Amino acid sequence: MPATTEEYARPATPPDTSSLAEVREAARECTACHLYKRATQTVFGEGPKDAPIMLVGEQPGDYEDVAGKPFVGPAGKIMDRALEEAGIDRKEVYVTNAVKHFKWEPRGKRRIHQKPNSREIAACRPWLEAELRLVKPKLLVCLGATAAQAIFGPSFRVTRERGKVLSSKFAPRVLATVHPSSLLRQPDEQSREREYKRFVVDLRAALKATGEGIEI
Ligand code: SF4
Repeated sequence: MPATTEEYARPATPPDTSSLAEVREAARECTACHLYKRATQTVFGEGPKDAPIMLVGEQPGDYEDVAGKPFVGPAGKIMDRALEEAGIDRKEVYVTNAVKHFKWEPRGKRRIHQKPNSREIAACRPWLEAELRLVKPKLLVCLGATAAQAIFGPSFRVTRERGKVLSSKFAPRVLATVHPSSLLRQPDEQSREREYKRFVVDLRAALKATGEGIEI
């Protein structure tokens, strides 16, 4: 289908099913907002259906868009390292994004990430709600402001609530922290290391909040 510049967003309509595979399959065809037009494919969540922890980020990036998998680029790699250091096996958690298509703008030959707006986040939220309904994680970890605001609304501030165990209608326990891509944007090695350690502390708090350890 040819890409157009027309922008629109209406709520996505996941099927009413208890099968995560069916929801994932339906999401592949989603055209509820204009973001699908310039993306390669839908990047749906991945992980065990009975995962005790769900991690939700903002949207797929350049690598994820091509691979069709969440958190496989540089931010995903640093997140994997932090998860391991916190005692969490990535294979045991469900990983997804608030928005399932890559939003970008061209700059030369590169595709530069663009932050999804509130209408796009709202359009895509039914997919995240369906994942939450079916996986029923004990704890939801919001990675960055977009994910946290998709759950708690636009007035939520990660800087204020970071690392606290909160609750919402979407999950009994929710913890917000930074998006791992913010670690990559630190100006120098010293601040990168400091922020990485804070991120690991938040992930340890998340593991503790599930009320049980996860075997690695
Ligand atoms: S970003 Fe979400 S709502 Fe928009 S087309 Fe993609 S899957 Fe559908």
